[in-house]
Amino acid sequence: MLKFVCLLVLSTAFADRATYSNYQVRRVFPENQEQLEVLSELEKNPNGLSFWLRPFRVQKAVDIMVPPHMLPQFNEIVASLNLKSEVYISNVQHLIDTERPKVRPRADFGWTDYYTLEEIYAWLDSLVEEYPNAVTPVSLGRSYEGREIRGVKVSFRKGNRAVILEGGIHAREWIAPATVTYILNKLLTSQDPVIADLAQSFDYYVFPSVNPDGYVYSHTTDRMWRKTRSQGGNRCYGADANRNFDFHWMEAGASSSACSETYAGSSPFSEVEARLLSNFLTSISDEFDVYLAFHSYSQLLMFPYGHNSDPVSNYDELLSLGRRAAAALAQNNGTEYDVGNIHDTIYPTSGVSMDWVRGVFDKPYTFTWELRDKGTYGFLLPASQIIDTAEETLNSVVVILQHAKENLPRK
Ligand SMILES: [Zn+2]
Repeated sequence: MLKFVCLLVLSTAFADRATYSNYQVRRVFPENQEQLEVLSELEKNPNGLSFWLRPFRVQKAVDIMVPPHMLPQFNEIVASLNLKSEVYISNVQHLIDTERPKVRPRADFGWTDYYTLEEIYAWLDSLVEEYPNAVTPVSLGRSYEGREIRGVKVSFRKGNRAVILEGGIHAREWIAPATVTYILNKLLTSQDPVIADLAQSFDYYVFPSVNPDGYVYSHTTDRMWRKTRSQGGNRCYGADANRNFDFHWMEAGASSSACSETYAGSSPFSEVEARLLSNFLTSISDEFDVYLAFHSYSQLLMFPYGHNSDPVSNYDELLSLGRRAAAALAQNNGTEYDVGNIHDTIYPTSGVSMDWVRGVFDKPYTFTWELRDKGTYGFLLPASQIIDTAEETLNSVVVILQHAKENLPRK
């Protein structure tokens, strides 16, 4: 096994702006335990390969981004293992170059393009101005590089229970902040009586981009950046903020290697972004019952837990609610989602925000979306799909919030 890993020891060059010319994304299907183990070893020592979908289970697709100079070695591994493989994306840079419109179709904030952190924050400011009685600014504090982690609170009525929306903890998953801002906008503007009623029936704390350093870096320097931008004297920057929460930290699906994409950080809450979010949630833990987190990609709707497959106390309720939400999501465009707990639906993982919320505060309704798509574009979903993605996702959010409204004890 080791020999395959050693074949891939090559250094990568760094430029001012990362380019991904002729980088391929290869989808491989491990069909037996040996193939799976070699892929898992590779993931631990990727040396320039980037796992977009991690190896976890036999017969589950693994997406690996391969730099052009590593294609010969990669092909050798695939051939020697007899791995089923296909080219899913033939040139990552081409998708980066074409995911956004050449000219913005509209000047205002209209979900026809992906927006920068600055633009998102300016839009939040405009909401505070436009809805002074309902929208107030909220700040979690400052990120590692000193950026404010900003959100808003929407409240039309006193005494409402609250819902939290979290987006952007993984920097490159641009569809997440786009979807969260879209839903926020609908809560404020929708004429649909069901949505308007839900807007009135809950308070909402909405944080489109809880990893602002990473998000900015993914705009300015490296489109494929996932982690925070902290530097703890390591050769590699950042940790995976969504492996950094203090709940079964580092038990599964997280790495102790600083260069890994799933580096869990040097200790629980070592990342200031995760720590600030947890502090804030702790401070309002008496107020909220619903926690909704947004990621991409894979089209999954998941509930706790990730560290093991033991069912949570309301597993049956969450599974049937999740399935109804996924059915509502599919109505607009036929977009199909799988539903289940994190451990069984995507892969074992620990230290994620949703599980911490459930585990520490026992909140009944906590869900995580892996939004579009299933790998055709992966993290590089064209901006032309934002509105359809967000609109169908809103359908699933509505089902969950209606259920919460009907089933939470009235206060
Ligand atoms: Zn993610």
